Amino acid sequence: MAIKPHGGTLINRILSGSDREKALARTKELPRLVLDNWELSDLELIANGAFSPNTGFMKKDDYESVVNNLRLADGTVWSIPIVLGITPQEAEQLVIGAEAALYTEENEIIGLIKVEEIYGFNKDLEVRKVYRTTDEEHPGVKRVYQRDQHLVGGEILLIDRRKPQQFAEMYLDPVETRRIFEDRGWKRVVAFQTRNPIHRAHEYLQKCAMEICDGLFLNPLVGETKGDDIPADVRVECYNVLLEKYYPADRTFMSAFPAAMRYAGPREAVFHAIVRQNYGATHFIVGRDHAGVGNYYGTYDAQLIFDQFLPEELGITPLFFEHTFYCKICGGMGSSKSCPHSKENHVFLSGTKVREMLSDGQTPPEEFTRKEVAEVLIKYYKGNVKQAG
Ligand code: ADP
Repeated sequence: MAIKPHGGTLINRILSGSDREKALARTKELPRLVLDNWELSDLELIANGAFSPNTGFMKKDDYESVVNNLRLADGTVWSIPIVLGITPQEAEQLVIGAEAALYTEENEIIGLIKVEEIYGFNKDLEVRKVYRTTDEEHPGVKRVYQRDQHLVGGEILLIDRRKPQQFAEMYLDPVETRRIFEDRGWKRVVAFQTRNPIHRAHEYLQKCAMEICDGLFLNPLVGETKGDDIPADVRVECYNVLLEKYYPADRTFMSAFPAAMRYAGPREAVFHAIVRQNYGATHFIVGRDHAGVGNYYGTYDAQLIFDQFLPEELGITPLFFEHTFYCKICGGMGSSKSCPHSKENHVFLSGTKVREMLSDGQTPPEEFTRKEVAEVLIKYYKGNVKQAG
């Protein structure tokens, strides 16, 4: 039997047929709220059940409970606020208990919200609790400080879906990925979150996990990321060349995770795990500094946070991995758990060093990255240099 969605029920707030028609007709008379890309992606992920059991943007009791206790007000584990900011002008038009129409910045209607509550919040408290820092250099913190001062909470309905601008076939809802895993007969499905091209260390974690699971669910995040991350289309090309050549097709499945990246480290690891459970995964890989940025989090903080929960509070099982590397003496990948040799024998390249090599058209060592992946990245860096010039 498939793993239960978080909270027990897979939420579906996507309207169709006459319900959609009726909702669309109602929107004409309603006050309008404009959502940015980040909020739009949250809206879609609430609507398609990826954020189950959430049925809307958080109201104050859920928001405060998530910030302070990593739980929704009813006690269900949830680690990241899912909120909709509004300007004072927007707030003035809203009526508590009535609906508001949700629009994209391009003025396309996208959905509805039942305005249940409008409330203020403490930005300093949120960033300290969720991001463990108030440093505005942190991309997640910056986002909170830029957010409007008021939040609107209430259930949502999705009227129209945005058309993905690229790789549309990779956008699957939890109900679809769950069906695929079931059709393939996978009982143990391990999910892998990534916002980077896959290097040998990633491949090693995935393949270790594949040995004890029935299938790998590669679920790259393709929503908003910070400016210097490799764009999603380039990453997808890397994943494709790698999957084609080095992974068994009948034991791997890839689809997109269209969420924005928060870089909230430990809190985001819990969030990433819960969401993958909703997509139907039973296991989730958490390696070193998961969803981290800069030096805000300890190497294994994103693993330690799971100690706060009983296994039954999270249906999905996290699989923890140490920092892995290629060891020249072992002649293979390993970590301090499995390799006895000293650091000089390990192939280690910093992110900066790798970027420098790729920009110069140099292929990093095969022990670090597969040459097929390096080729895609070199092409991307060359194109960028040309554009910049
Ligand atoms: P993010 O965690 O921000 O999405 P990545 O795409 O780099 O960033 O990482 C994906 C997953 O792989 C995370 O769980 C991360 O902890 C893990 N990971 C990445 N590199 C290593 C490594 N060298 N050793 C162990 N785990 C790693």
